[in-house]
Amino acid sequence: MYPPVTLPVTNEYGYFEIRLESIGGLGANLCGKMLGELGALYLSLNALSFSSYGSEKRGSPVKSYIRWSPASTPLRINSPVLRPHVLGIFHEGLIGTYPVLDGISADTKIVLNTPLSCDEAAEKYNISIGTLYCLDALSIAMKSRSRINMVMLGAIARACPFIPMESVESLCKNTVGKKYPALIEANLLGLKMGYEKTSEQKLSHRSKHASDMALESPASSALAKETYVWGYKNAPIGGINTRPGSTVSNDLSPSREGYIPLFLQERCINCGLCDSTCPDMVFQFAPGIYKGKETMVNQGLDYRHCKGCLRCVDVCPTHALVKALEKDYPEKPYSMLDQDLLPAGIQYQKTGANSWITSDSYLDEKRIDGGIV
Ligand code: SF4
Ligand code: SF4
Repeated sequence: MYPPVTLPVTNEYGYFEIRLESIGGLGANLCGKMLGELGALYLSLNALSFSSYGSEKRGSPVKSYIRWSPASTPLRINSPVLRPHVLGIFHEGLIGTYPVLDGISADTKIVLNTPLSCDEAAEKYNISIGTLYCLDALSIAMKSRSRINMVMLGAIARACPFIPMESVESLCKNTVGKKYPALIEANLLGLKMGYEKTSEQKLSHRSKHASDMALESPASSALAKETYVWGYKNAPIGGINTRPGSTVSNDLSPSREGYIPLFLQERCINCGLCDSTCPDMVFQFAPGIYKGKETMVNQGLDYRHCKGCLRCVDVCPTHALVKALEKDYPEKPYSMLDQDLLPAGIQYQKTGANSWITSDSYLDEKRIDGGIV
């Protein structure tokens, strides 16, 4: 047992709060549970942790909430953490797609999994408040043969100097080690590397709340708060879809865990197995010539629809699809938007019964009559 810690900062209820933003498959749920256990069993605090996630095992957004308080302060709230003292972002692709930066303030320590430096990340994601901790958790996890959640746990410990690192290591041995003894060394290494390889930068001393800043500065899109126009007085009767849409706008990029299928066209025999295997219609086939015959030819991939499951890599008989690190390919070869293959006649027809929605208009227009503005 370690001596009780003193929480460095608490909210008006006396709680220290942590929120983890992730996608399914990166282990944020387990990381949240471990942080809850760390508070209760190792730091002599009151602690609770819970997560929210969808039915999919991988790829969909996951939030994990952890709340700590001193032993003398009972935890009486079990609602989501809105103004975190520590915000762990396990996947940088979430920023801008989902309001994961909501609720940050000058007190917030933002632990971000990114290959970028703190300066670059602050600039790219327009983060100007709080303290930023950056680390390339995917590369560290690959090097240490551990998982992103252990690396991020080490980085969170680094951002919270009041947590003794030995307590986190004991926690890791007692949880992961008991279940998977063969993996304990790799996970302890991932934890240690996450702690050591995290860079830190204080961004601003402004005490203003981030969402207030977003209201003042619409340009700060990464901080923008979702605003809903419909309420209980004016929302349409349940079940009415006032705005039919199309999956053509579906961008699954944030669902990828750092890997993409890379297409090597010279090896492709146009068998179509990838197309029938892919659950998200990523592959773009169009009439063409292969070996002197007219056939459907694989033109490339619409990576916006690719969630990175890599089933296509498994099924390709000629290794024309191979697993690659996404960060190594900022310009993806053979990237082909599906709307580029639409026949000319249907590109600009209006939506409605028995008609086609346009790719372009759907992607450009803003939702104005409800939902997210
Ligand atoms: S499965 Fe491989 S060989 Fe077959 S069409 Fe797809 S990429 Fe080409
Ligand atoms: S990894 Fe392959 S099968 Fe999976 S979504 Fe992407 S293109 Fe489709």
